[in-house]
Amino acid sequence: MSDANDTAPPIRRLIVIGLGLIGGSVALGAKKRGLVKEVYAMNRSADTLEYARDKGIADKTFQSIEEVLEGASDEDLILLGVPVLSLGPVLEQIHKHLEADATITDVGSTKAALVEKARQVWSTLPSNFVPGHPIAGSEKFGVQAANGDLFEEHRVILTPTGAEDEHHLQRVSDLWSGLGAGVDSMTADHHDKVLAATSHLPHVLAFVLVDQLASMEEQTEVLRYAAGGFRDFSRIAGSDPAMWRDIMIANKESISARIEEFESHLNQLKTALRDSSPEQIQEIFERAQKTRNGFLHKSEENK
Ligand code: NAP
Repeated sequence: MSDANDTAPPIRRLIVIGLGLIGGSVALGAKKRGLVKEVYAMNRSADTLEYARDKGIADKTFQSIEEVLEGASDEDLILLGVPVLSLGPVLEQIHKHLEADATITDVGSTKAALVEKARQVWSTLPSNFVPGHPIAGSEKFGVQAANGDLFEEHRVILTPTGAEDEHHLQRVSDLWSGLGAGVDSMTADHHDKVLAATSHLPHVLAFVLVDQLASMEEQTEVLRYAAGGFRDFSRIAGSDPAMWRDIMIANKESISARIEEFESHLNQLKTALRDSSPEQIQEIFERAQKTRNGFLHKSEENK
């Protein structure tokens, strides 16, 4: 989105609200690469903040939004790293306490509900707000899992609202480029539809499959004989249930539509099994294998 000769002035202070895996990784990466002069962090748990100070992830830490925003300036960037359903209440606090024209962005996994919330809170879409979502992460959570290189060679999707000032958009884009990510742009609605298919549905399937196995009578035996396939497929069911509950609720329309499509595809396979149709089964598996190989090839090319 930006090129090296066309960058916004550097960020004076990065203010991270919600210092978990993603917020902590942005803070660490930005400090390591000298993208910001200093990092302030706000989180509710005192242990998290103590850890962040000890490890040099944040220069100063606060337990309230009012305090962390005191003295904020137009040269600052506020990054929201809280779970998606906490973003609304956090925006309300920012609206109440932020006096400067600092840039506001977020890393939430769903976007349309957030944009709507911002419109409600400010009564119009604010010109300093640029929503974003890094397509990088892991099933780990908490600041202890933070990794300053997490975004290297990954994509970040920005969903500009159309009301933003160019320099705010540029500043957010520069931050992600500086962290080694490639930056894309699309509408919030389109983002939510795409991510429902590529990220949210796979999480639904992993959680439901593992839950199904856990509820089977011979559970111990099932898991004893589970091998690499189960390990690969179930990895993302180790993700934080509370974070994923919020994502499901925030993007329920798109996710429900994808689940219905999935049911129809599963039924095709069920019919092929009932009809003992090896050709039909093979056709489905070959199509899937080809798509998966193509995806891996493309991922390698994009590196
Ligand atoms: P996380 O490790 O659980 O971090 C969330 C942090 O937010 C915690 O430190 C939590 O600590 C804090 N928090 C929660 N509610 C808060 C509030 N009201 N005010 C201030 N702090 C609050 O989760 P994460 O994986 O970093 O995810 C954060 C965001 O990134 C989510 O919106 C998620 O959708 C998005 N995301 C995640 C991934 C991923 O793979 N994990 C990838 C891309 C985007 P306290 O409860 O102690 O305050």
